[in-house]
Amino acid sequence: MKIKDLFKNKNTVISFEIFPPNKKFPVENIYKTIDELSKLNPDYISVTYGAGGTTQDRTVEITNRIKNINKIETMAHLTCIGATEESINATLKQLKNNGIKNILALRGDIPRDQIHDSKFSYASDLVKHIKKDGSFSIGGAFYPEVHFENNDLLDLFHLKTKVDSGTDFLVSQLFFDNEDFYKFKEKTQKLNINVPLVAGILPVTNYKQIQKVRELCNAKIPRKFQTILDKFKDDPKALEEAGIIYATEQIIDLIASGVDGVHIYTMNKVHVTRKILENIKYIREGIKEAK
Ligand code: FAD
Repeated sequence: MKIKDLFKNKNTVISFEIFPPNKKFPVENIYKTIDELSKLNPDYISVTYGAGGTTQDRTVEITNRIKNINKIETMAHLTCIGATEESINATLKQLKNNGIKNILALRGDIPRDQIHDSKFSYASDLVKHIKKDGSFSIGGAFYPEVHFENNDLLDLFHLKTKVDSGTDFLVSQLFFDNEDFYKFKEKTQKLNINVPLVAGILPVTNYKQIQKVRELCNAKIPRKFQTILDKFKDDPKALEEAGIIYATEQIIDLIASGVDGVHIYTMNKVHVTRKILENIKYIREGIKEAK
């Protein structure tokens, strides 16, 4: 099923994101995780591409397994920076042959000290290219706290171009203050960006993770959350518990506010994802009906 159609049938679409195992390890290492995550009945599971030292063809392999063995809807992430048209076409062909219907079209981070020479400079170039094929529902990324390369206004302007190029829905960068998401949504409405906006939520489960989050995307940590992190930083179990509850509270607030989708950055942690979904068991039952 195309993800763009899921939004027509559900009040809030609940999805998970996983990443392929590092190439030092066999791809099968992720299969048990997928089996367990599938039991939680997500509307779809997305698989990252090329990030963190993983091989890119694993995204194709893993989405194939999710779709055709686990029988769960899936979305393949695909980045375009530095890619050739041939390599993009080869990946699209593989995905199509496997029956994959959804792609998160991304630019990717520009490699340091490397001049890129590609037909694809921005995600919108990739969106236009995939759109020509006509087989896929296309998602794109957005940044409630603004993408680090641009100021607020420019980033929004570029987002509008990306949507007008054929993006069906947008998935957000992680954030810890829901107000940032709501304010961003208001701005998109003023610009007539009228596609579903999905909130990306990262359950923080250890102190080191926060340092990494800062390096990767510079997300703002609200005072309330920083206090929790500082208080429990030397008690891993308490910190994990607090991180799960913080993420749960964010999700409940988002659902109550009518968010189109919640995308959980699972970090391949089944027990954390399971606990969050247990926390919203009845809330989730209530959002199943069609709009
Ligand atoms: P774009 O939409 O192209 O935007 C990038 C920057 O360029 C922005 O500052 C934008 O304002 C600007 N811009 C856009 N168009 C123009 C234009 N025409 N002229 C001038 N400036 C322009 N990375 C991975 O490597 N693998 C993954 O699997 C992955 N998954 C992700 C999933 C989500 C939900 C998110 C939010 C990010 C993900 N990323 C992933 C990270 C992403 O690749 C980086 O954030 C990257 O820096 C930007 O990608 P983008 O698709 O948002 O780029």
